[in-house]
This record gives sequence, C-alpha cells and structure tokens, in this order.
Amino acid sequence: MKVKIWGCRGSLPAPGPENMVYGGNTSCIQVNQGDTFIILDAGSGIQRLGKYLSPEIKEIHILLTHLHIDHMMGLGFFQPLYNPEVTVHVWGPDTGKESLLSNLRRYFSPPLFPVMFSELPKHPVIHELSHNTFRIGELEIFVDYLCHPGATLGYRVSNGKSVFTYIPDHELALGSANFPHDPEWTSGYEIAKSADLLLHDSSYNSKEYSSKIGWGHSSARDAISFAKMCKVKKLALFHHEPARSDEQLETLLENALRNQELDFEVFLCAEGDVYELD
Ligand SMILES: [Zn+2]
Ligand SMILES: [Zn+2]
Repeated sequence: MKVKIWGCRGSLPAPGPENMVYGGNTSCIQVNQGDTFIILDAGSGIQRLGKYLSPEIKEIHILLTHLHIDHMMGLGFFQPLYNPEVTVHVWGPDTGKESLLSNLRRYFSPPLFPVMFSELPKHPVIHELSHNTFRIGELEIFVDYLCHPGATLGYRVSNGKSVFTYIPDHELALGSANFPHDPEWTSGYEIAKSADLLLHDSSYNSKEYSSKIGWGHSSARDAISFAKMCKVKKLALFHHEPARSDEQLETLLENALRNQELDFEVFLCAEGDVYELD
C-alpha cells in the first residue's frame, strides 16, 4: 500500500518560501493498492493530484473527513470532475441533518463558486458514511466519527496486511476526561489502534492548546500520547498551522518529544512524502 501526501497544512493554504519543506497545500492524501486508488480529503492539494492522474483512470473515489472548507476547497479545481468519461464518487459524513449532497451544493454555487453541481458533465456519485466498514477494490475501510466540531470522520484503511489511519482534525483531550488513560473511551482509538502509520492532527503546542480548548484540534504532545496509547508503529504529525514556518514546525516537534521515551517513530508530515506500507 502506497500513501502519498499532496497537502498537510491545516485550516488555510500557506504557500511561501518559509514553508518549502512541509508545503502549503491543505489536506489531500492519495492511497494506492494494486489497481485500487482512493483520495482522502479534497483540500487545495487535490488540484495538483488531478494534474498527475493517469488518463487511464476512469473511476475515482474521494473520501471526505468533513466539510470544513480546508478539506474540500480543492474539489472544484479537480479536473477529472469536468471529464465526462470519468466517474467521481464522493464519500462523506452523514451529518444527521443536511444531506451530503446539499452541503456540497452549497460550495458549488455562487457566490462561492461559479459552477453549479448540476452543470458538471457527469454528476458525482454521492455516498453518505457513518460508523461502518466497507470495501473499495482491494482496500478495506473502517470509518467512525471523531471529536471535532460538526460531523467528522476518521479513516482506517487496510490492504489486509498493513493499516494506514487518517485523522486530520481531532480534539483528543476534549473527548475523554481521563485522556490518555482510557483507550476505550478515547475518540479515534478503534480507528488508530496498532496502525502501521497514523497521520494525526497536531495543530498546536501545549501552551497554545490551553487557550483553544473546544476549537477541535490537538497539541502535538497529545497526538504523541494518543499514538502511544494506540501502539502505532509510526506517527506523522499533520494539519500544520498555516502561520507556522518550517523552522517553527521543527521546534514544535522537538519540544513535543522532549523527555519522552518512545518505541515508535514520530515525524512531521511533508507535502510530497510517499510512504510504502507492507
Ligand atoms: Zn482542517
Ligand atoms: Zn475541521
């Protein structure tokens, strides 16, 4: 299973010379297993992904974690949506209120965007998800809700041998009063346990988090405690704050690792990274 990062910035794209190492595009991940290919989130990174896709691919699955704008702002710029020969499936959370289609139409409409959903040459196939396990080709996907404002999903993707877990937006400390000591009561535990690679929200340092409780994100230190609890093999810190430069991200990691004894690898996710799991 191959995992490629097309965007790992949180909240807002952050291009600029100070962000050359970790990149400025918002959430977008490509996962390949044999002929099976899925995309997780449609942040600004999906625009470049669309340019590099093989024209042979006629069926594409985009799995959205939630509908905050940084996770879907690239959808209208994803060129395969305008190719009548390509079928695009869009999967996303069942909110229990407004339908996924109706939420997507809010983005694909003036004044936010000039093209209406109904004007696309081929209407995307919409799938609503809640706590569930399903298959796309050779990949088994377990999905569940997470602690984050609005209906938000995390994805556990398995090829039968390796597990990749994607949790870009997640407030760990809000979900359980006893975090990190109650795995079964911790949001996201079932999705992340024993994963070979976990991508997890690490928007803040511990001091910043104390003034942003309830905003839906985690500190890098909480992400590390969660990875330890879940016994993952590798943790890639994700959803980098848009105002944080490459240098400041490295300081964030250094501080989060201080006085920690860990038996797994922790690193900063960078746009362009490719991970081979098997
Ligand atoms: Zn986000
Ligand atoms: Zn969010």
